[in-house]
Amino acid sequence: MVDSHCHLYDEKIAQESTNIINNFETDNIDFVIVPSCDFESQQKALKLSQEHEKVFCALAVHPHDAKNYNEETENFIINNYKNNKVVAIGEFGFDYFYNLSPFKKQIEVAERHFYLCNQCDLPAIFHIRDGLPQETEHYDAYKDFFNIAKNVSLKRNGVLHCFGGDIDKARKALDLGFYISFTCNATYQSNQHLRDAIKYIPIDRLLIETDSPYMSPRHQRSIPNQPKNVKYVAELISELKQIDVEFVYNQTTYNTKNLFYKIKF
Ligand SMILES: [Zn+2]
Ligand SMILES: [Zn+2]
Repeated sequence: MVDSHCHLYDEKIAQESTNIINNFETDNIDFVIVPSCDFESQQKALKLSQEHEKVFCALAVHPHDAKNYNEETENFIINNYKNNKVVAIGEFGFDYFYNLSPFKKQIEVAERHFYLCNQCDLPAIFHIRDGLPQETEHYDAYKDFFNIAKNVSLKRNGVLHCFGGDIDKARKALDLGFYISFTCNATYQSNQHLRDAIKYIPIDRLLIETDSPYMSPRHQRSIPNQPKNVKYVAELISELKQIDVEFVYNQTTYNTKNLFYKIKF
């Protein structure tokens, strides 16, 4: 089993991260990918990947932090992408829910990351979250994402992480060739649209992740999430698609290695 997206350096779980990693074997975790969000987490993610065999990392600036994107953050990516544990450019994209950076800046920085994916010959990890139409005029993050993505030809593929869309958005992402990844938030009662999307998406285009320490499973929402909980996403997929959970483990691991081609494990 693979957790394709977890922030092990996040202060909510950083102190336990060594323990968490040491338990990977017991917890049936083959490996994890740790994405970064800003200059500081780029360094932390890379460091974790250098210290632990089963930890890979991705480098980028999150849309929340787009306003702080500068030469320093970009140079860190350019100076380190050849490292054999750096397997993607991520996570980057559009977050119009929190709007922590102005949307124009988010678009500009996302375009820069699309360019970096090709420059570094790496796949992309996209973070896309819509805003609430009643709160912000510019709320359609998926629209901006699809507009840019269909005009850029990426050398490598990408994944829409922590997918929050419906079947229509899933179809558009699949048409562009992307993978789609789900977290434990698909187990929340209110997220029926995510379960409908899981049923719709072919198993060979699905990835699983925890987005730890966020997105804890339904029955543990007050506790920081951990990679071992990725099994709940696999179990949900198995239940919805009426397929064996072992098959879900194997297929999603295969998909992850297919996308993040530098991982030889
Ligand atoms: Zn994200
Ligand atoms: Zn994340």
